Amino acid sequence: MQPETLVTTLGRDPEQHHGVVNPPVYHASTILFPTLAALEQSEKSDGVSSLVYARSGTPATRNFEQMIATLDGADHAIVTASGQSAIVVALLANLSAGDHLLITDNVYGSVRKLCAEELVRLGIEISYFDPVTQDIAACLRPNTKVVYVESPGSLTFEVQDIPLIAKVAHTHGAIVIADNTWATPLFMRAGEKGADITIHSCTKYISGHSDLVMGVITYPKQYHDVLRQTFRNLGVCPGADELYLAARGLRTMPTRLKQHQETGILLANWLKARPEVTKILHPAFASCPGHDIWKRDFTGATGLFSVVLKPYAKEKLANMLDNMQLFGMGFSWGGYESLMLPFKPPRSVTRWDKDAIYLRIHAGLEHPDDLIADLAAGFERLNSL
Ligand SMILES: *Cc1c(COP(=O)(O)O)cnc(C)c1O
Repeated sequence: MQPETLVTTLGRDPEQHHGVVNPPVYHASTILFPTLAALEQSEKSDGVSSLVYARSGTPATRNFEQMIATLDGADHAIVTASGQSAIVVALLANLSAGDHLLITDNVYGSVRKLCAEELVRLGIEISYFDPVTQDIAACLRPNTKVVYVESPGSLTFEVQDIPLIAKVAHTHGAIVIADNTWATPLFMRAGEKGADITIHSCTKYISGHSDLVMGVITYPKQYHDVLRQTFRNLGVCPGADELYLAARGLRTMPTRLKQHQETGILLANWLKARPEVTKILHPAFASCPGHDIWKRDFTGATGLFSVVLKPYAKEKLANMLDNMQLFGMGFSWGGYESLMLPFKPPRSVTRWDKDAIYLRIHAGLEHPDDLIADLAAGFERLNSL
């Protein structure tokens, strides 16, 4: 079945619930055992095949995990309290003291912090590879256990060659963990391109309404025991309402993504023609590093991209950003609303213009004409004073 049909049919069983279309929400902690034998049996359970305690999951958890695993073409999924905790589980399950972790330099900032402030302290070696040249062979060490990709990076949008990176990593005995939050399972299945473990922040397009924080890990069955163990020990389960809202958001994701894609490309084309803009960092545009890989491996583009502007004085930029009517300034993305965020690109191995202005744009579901009018007025303010 096609994704549109999958998201509307998966995870439902009205006959079990008095004909009600949606499955129930389970607000739970304790789960009661009817007999001593059942209690003793539960001690052998992994908390997945039978219900033990709500931190290990409720029927709603299993339901959502099954929906995402199916959409992502994976055997299993684990849903977590946030995208960040999905990343923590995936990394800690596969790394020990003395191991080396090789990460793309365009990685999500909170992952960079996790590495510098926590993983290094645990004796894990970290280094970064350039997502433009992607010469990971030159960066592998004898103790490299995990190569971590984020394709495209969610600030600077370099698209990475996951099939090639996976081939090199696997030959070396390392696994590949992919953050696929930008593309979602609809526009690229990282597991099918060679990644061993995929993570998604459900906070973004999966839930789609800027009203929750949640994450998910998808993986083939050989990683089940190790990932489940670390997940259980870290205790990073999502709340019942988050699960419900994320499942509800997922039902409309294909429809929303079509519009995010269309508006994103329209805005990027309009911006490209502006004299203030020097570069479009959007995977569907030839100016974006890895554009050819995007064409080969992805089936669409979502609504998040960046633009590079000529240098402008801080007051001029503030005059533009402080007075936008529709583009909100804030972290996160993937909701129904448009956003605009100035940022400084990472600087460990990639070279960037330190005077240029980098703006990340999330194309929301407002009418594109209104968004363009807001941008045009914003540029007018940038050029005034
Ligand atoms: C937001 C984000 C995360 C972290 O997800 P949270 O749900 O906010 O913890 C990870 N990776 C990418 C690319 C993100 O945009």
